[in-house]
Amino acid sequence: MKAQVSGMGGWWWRFTDYVIDDTPVSQGQWPITHGYIRPAPDARLEPYQVLIGSDLDLVEGQTVPALDHYQTLLNLNVDDDAAIVSWCRQYGLLGILPQTSIQLRLAPRWRIIQLSAGGGTRRALSPCQTIYVRTPAGWQGFIESTGWDHMMWEGNEESDDTLAEPNAGISPITPKALMTGLFSSTYEEMRLGEAIGPFFPQIPMAERDTTEYPHPLSDEFWNQYCEPLAEFRWAVKDFQTMIDNLSHAGPMFEVPPRQWSAMVQGRDQLNSLLSISPGFDYQVDGTTSATWTFPSLLAIFAFEIWEKLIGGQSVKHCKRTNCRRLFLTAQYNRDYCSDRCRQSEEKARQRRRN
Ligand SMILES: [Zn+2]
Repeated sequence: MKAQVSGMGGWWWRFTDYVIDDTPVSQGQWPITHGYIRPAPDARLEPYQVLIGSDLDLVEGQTVPALDHYQTLLNLNVDDDAAIVSWCRQYGLLGILPQTSIQLRLAPRWRIIQLSAGGGTRRALSPCQTIYVRTPAGWQGFIESTGWDHMMWEGNEESDDTLAEPNAGISPITPKALMTGLFSSTYEEMRLGEAIGPFFPQIPMAERDTTEYPHPLSDEFWNQYCEPLAEFRWAVKDFQTMIDNLSHAGPMFEVPPRQWSAMVQGRDQLNSLLSISPGFDYQVDGTTSATWTFPSLLAIFAFEIWEKLIGGQSVKHCKRTNCRRLFLTAQYNRDYCSDRCRQSEEKARQRRRN
């Protein structure tokens, strides 16, 4: 049943259209960044399924040969703004922030909470932090009271939902983010605004630490989330370098030491993107099917490459001098990325012979 659509893949989000917004935005201590990729005005948000590991794909009820999605990122010229916008129309944004954030701890706000006291319940105001955590089942959000010390018992209801500013009575509770590097497994705790503010350029600098950011990957999140053009370009270039690092031919004992260190780097980069969780869901007929939770589009593409690598494929450079494109293949003697390259090299050989 090789032709069956396997349905293995992940859900991602895209808008029907994107634009590159060139309005300069001050990044505080960082240099001014020009250019954000954001949804076009009036663009519609739609979740879609990126199917991988199948020979056939399902498009509008028709089965068509499945694309290697990662290949579109390899082929993307990041210096061509129009090409980037067109790619985003097909796939959406890369998900750099959801891929690199682990836990987001927002600025404390006054919230009304119910407490049991003396056999009944009592309302109180407490500084509470919204916390978002990336879990194997996706992003979970919860609200945590900062404790008994700062509670107010009566007559303060109008403070509900306002910022709990640090003052004499409240020890400062900093909004923080636990972040990891893109293509690396290092972890760092950062100020919230510094870590995630650059992805929400419409929020003024002064409010980046204290904004009540939306639940990651929610519709509200996507309506506000942008990717800085520079970050997008770096991510795509690093993705291309990662696959380049993985390229080799033949057994390990023939690999020169410098190439071996590139391969190790490529392996670590790919592994860092594979923060993916398997799960399952019930089908209408009572059977079960596999589901996968991916933090980002980059993770879905990394999973696609992983699937090919463990399936016996290896990364190669096309032998045609004018192409040199990276591709994955299970055929150890395949030298060209496509029939087109193979044929054009054969023709060139014939011309040289004649
Ligand atoms: Zn080629």
